[in-house]
Amino acid sequence: MSDEDKREREHAYELEVLNPATEEVVATVPGATAADVDAAVVRAARAQTRWAALAPGERARLLRRFAVAVDEHLEELARLEVREAGHVIGNARWEAGNVRDLLDYAAGGVERLTGRQIPVSGGLDVTILEPLGVVGVIAPWNFPMPIAAWGTAPALAAGNAVILKPAETTPLTALRLAELALEAGLPEGLFQVLPGHGPVAGNALVEHPGVAKIVFTGSTAVGKQVLAKGSALLKRVTLELGGKSPNIVFADADIEAAAAAAPMAFLDNSGQDCCARTRILVQRSAYDRFLELLGPAIEAVTVGDPADEKTDMGPLISQVQLERVRSYATDGLEGIRGKAPEGPGFWFPPTVLTGVDPHARVAVEEVFGPVAVVLPFEDEAEAVTLANATDYGLSGSIWTRDIGRALRVSQAVRAGNLSVNSHSSVRYWTPFGGFKQSGIGRELGPEALTAFTETKNVFISTEGPAQ
Ligand code: NAD
Repeated sequence: MSDEDKREREHAYELEVLNPATEEVVATVPGATAADVDAAVVRAARAQTRWAALAPGERARLLRRFAVAVDEHLEELARLEVREAGHVIGNARWEAGNVRDLLDYAAGGVERLTGRQIPVSGGLDVTILEPLGVVGVIAPWNFPMPIAAWGTAPALAAGNAVILKPAETTPLTALRLAELALEAGLPEGLFQVLPGHGPVAGNALVEHPGVAKIVFTGSTAVGKQVLAKGSALLKRVTLELGGKSPNIVFADADIEAAAAAAPMAFLDNSGQDCCARTRILVQRSAYDRFLELLGPAIEAVTVGDPADEKTDMGPLISQVQLERVRSYATDGLEGIRGKAPEGPGFWFPPTVLTGVDPHARVAVEEVFGPVAVVLPFEDEAEAVTLANATDYGLSGSIWTRDIGRALRVSQAVRAGNLSVNSHSSVRYWTPFGGFKQSGIGRELGPEALTAFTETKNVFISTEGPAQ
């Protein structure tokens, strides 16, 4: 822990939120100290006891009201996301809508959170799914609203209280969501948002004995620290970490469709997407044709003002991220480069690199920017070997017209979320999470609420008292 982190554990500090498209200061918010986290846990524990005691139908009703409040403020939330995160407005609207839908979906699970009755002799055996208590959600800056909601909505629905620590650069939508929750009637203290520095506020949540579970989304490096520290208290931990996902294009695929879809599969959100398909693997016999089509498709991507409805790609989140991305897009490598604005803002052009060694840094590490590599392969076996040649295992796509191959490769690629002839990966009603160093546990989908419960088994004897 740095000296500054040590100071911030005890003393007030502030976070400055910048508009990444202009570098103007959007807001300044207070950062949470370790004492703020302690106080929030006390409030959360109190609220959780009352919340869990409410009738399930009442909890569901309040969560639906929260969803309605989000819907009524969708445009405001989306505009805030554009300002603090530089997301293009169409995406930002989808993100606010995702929060609403997730709250609705989770609300539908409250009355369906059933245990089981298991056959035994001499009595009745039932399982009860009980809330964990206070859950800490630590979110990254790349999808501030949806990722906050992926942990928060099911945790609340399962009867827990939530303390959300948003990323340093993007606390504003999270703070607004907490206000909307209160307006919708959720009890005070049940859903609290504590902006703050990761090693200070985030770490205090991870080390707090009153926090039963941590849902962490962020880098693999910090995720490993969270797991190590959480394990000292046997804390439940879900990790959603990095990715270096393959986009595998076989020669028998619809090459036009694959090339048309490839740019936004790694440029969406300026490549700051854990599922970005940044390793484009193309069968050698289709390689030249694919690149011929990819060039114009990359050049057609509009990069600029994220508030403009016609923009496809906005800026990167910060100067730090810009420097990081630059360090990967090594000059001298061949490739295709799109255009980006000059002047203020953290801009980087869409970039595709060819002729890259498959072991080069840019081919194996997560860039988290608008940079992809195209690597050729000979046959199915080599495609699978290349796809799996990474420590990550989050997402991937397979383009082929051969259904047998689609299934074989889907089974062979070690990743949690695959799509065939498309790049879809995240739906709130299907499970999401990573293999290998992309994470532990799953979010979303039919089991989302169960991940925020403990299973208690109760045996009730039907034998009468001994005579
Ligand atoms: P990060 O790990 O730096 O930060 C993520 C969060 O952790 C932030 O809120 C940060 O303040 C907090 N944090 C930092 N240090 C901490 C500490 N010592 N203790 C507790 N909390 C701490 O990651 P980032 O740069 O904000 O986000 C980008 C990363 O997130 C990428 O690697 C990306 O792939 C990953 N990501 C994964 C998914 C997924 O679902 N798998 C989704 C989005 C992003």
